[in-house]
Amino acid sequence: MMQDTLRPDPHAEIREEVRKLCSRFPGEYWRKLDQERGYPTEFVTALTEGGYLGALIPEEYGGAGLPLSAAAAILETVQAEGCNGAACHAQMYIMGTILRHGTDAQKKTYLPKIATGELRLQAFGVTEPTSGTDTTSLRTFARKEGDKYIVNGQKVWTSRAEHSDLMLLLARTTPRDQTTKRTEGLSTFIVDMRKALGNGLTIRPIRTMMNHNSTEIFFDNMEVPAENLVGVEGRGFRYILDGMNAERLLIAAECIGDAKWFLRKATDYARDRVVFGRPIGQNQGIQFPLARAYAQMRAAELMVQAGCDKFEAGETPGEEANMAKMLAAEASWAAGEACIQTHGGFGFAEEYDIERKFRETRLYQVAPISTNLILSYVAEHVLGLPRSY
Ligand SMILES: Cc1cc2nc3c(=O)[nH]c(=O)nc-3n(C[C@H](O)[C@H](O)[C@H](O)COP(=O)(O)OP(=O)(O)OC[C@H]3O[C@@H](n4cnc5c(N)ncnc54)[C@H](O)[C@@H]3O)c2cc1C
Repeated sequence: MMQDTLRPDPHAEIREEVRKLCSRFPGEYWRKLDQERGYPTEFVTALTEGGYLGALIPEEYGGAGLPLSAAAAILETVQAEGCNGAACHAQMYIMGTILRHGTDAQKKTYLPKIATGELRLQAFGVTEPTSGTDTTSLRTFARKEGDKYIVNGQKVWTSRAEHSDLMLLLARTTPRDQTTKRTEGLSTFIVDMRKALGNGLTIRPIRTMMNHNSTEIFFDNMEVPAENLVGVEGRGFRYILDGMNAERLLIAAECIGDAKWFLRKATDYARDRVVFGRPIGQNQGIQFPLARAYAQMRAAELMVQAGCDKFEAGETPGEEANMAKMLAAEASWAAGEACIQTHGGFGFAEEYDIERKFRETRLYQVAPISTNLILSYVAEHVLGLPRSY
């Protein structure tokens, strides 16, 4: 039978507790939200109250102070139990920018409240319609005026903005043609969306193929107090990059969880479903895609663990985090595909939850970074090939 992990698991207890929590949110709960494109408020509250979303916040700021591998185990288990962490996963990692680069006052003001859930910081405003993956060409501009910044521009795909109190915003503060490097002149801000909404900030939901609470956001002379600048003006792109390895490893862990859910569901069904007088799982045509997806999932899981090991040792796991994200997203897709095929017609019935998970897991080959850009990273930074773009 499929074990939780191949390597000895230091977070078995956490997994068990998260599993218990998730059992209170069965398929019907997610199906209803999916139909309504609703937000899983009760689920997010339960995870917050359990202390899971504050896992990475140090104890001195009221969090659990757990290592990245524990956060990965939490999110993986959420997905493996058929739930969807996309509604709140960013609460775990966006705060890392404040933790690493914020002032003492910012850390004391925000982190304890993020840990208790009193404040939700789960909106991350980076992508823009015209810049796409080419982040440094973003156009949203924050102009300093006395003790505040005036922000104008637009973001797209800002997930959970309607369900977040704060947003971490990346905006240009020096025009690109006045910087020596295109990565300079971008800054990060903490935006209090409760105050800004209706005062220069407009949020419009985007309906997508899965329930992801994504939005587009418009800034029209939105004011942000200068004290909400994170770190040094002009260095924001660096700060965002600093957080990306953790984000990629956590998203990869979610994909591993999805793959485990698909594989359990498919193998249970393949053992039970009898056609032509024998279980369909006896046919190699059914077995092999599942066995292949399982092998892909385990390989990706080891890469997630290698990335977490390096991160926890204070090193930079750029290579591992990128490869883990790509391999895990491909493994969950392979497992989802095999799961649908194993179920035949029933794979398409909403009440089996497979088609929902299939739609949900597809995202991770595109966001938060698409597979092509990961391959470009590996080609350039690991294999030493010339930059292609
Ligand atoms: C549901 C959803 C939620 C999201 N949530 C957030 C969020 O909360 N915050 C946020 O800031 N962003 C968010 N995103 C944005 C996401 O990070 C981007 O969609 C993703 O990075 C790809 O950017 P793009 O859509 O602009 O595609 P583009 O940059 O337009 O790229 C389109 C395609 O071209 C390929 N491509 C582009 N350039 C190259 C190249 N040089 N070489 C090879 N291939 C290339 C890409 O890989 C991609 O396949 C979300 C997106 C979605 C769909």
